[in-house]
Amino acid sequence: MAACPGKFKNRTCYGMVHKCKSCGGVGCDRDGCSNQGFKLSKCLKCGKIGNRENVR
Ligand SMILES: [Zn+2]
Ligand SMILES: [Zn+2]
Repeated sequence: MAACPGKFKNRTCYGMVHKCKSCGGVGCDRDGCSNQGFKLSKCLKCGKIGNRENVR
């Protein structure tokens, strides 16, 4: 499982990174992370919901 390299509250996030099956966007699902790409299963790039997979 890929660990998120983004920053969360001044620390490295290490959250789970997901990939959107629609737009290919990769991002973290943690609200407030600098690498955030999803919010409550919704892709922030294309707006699709529940269309993501885990990045390995
Ligand atoms: Zn993150
Ligand atoms: Zn997307």
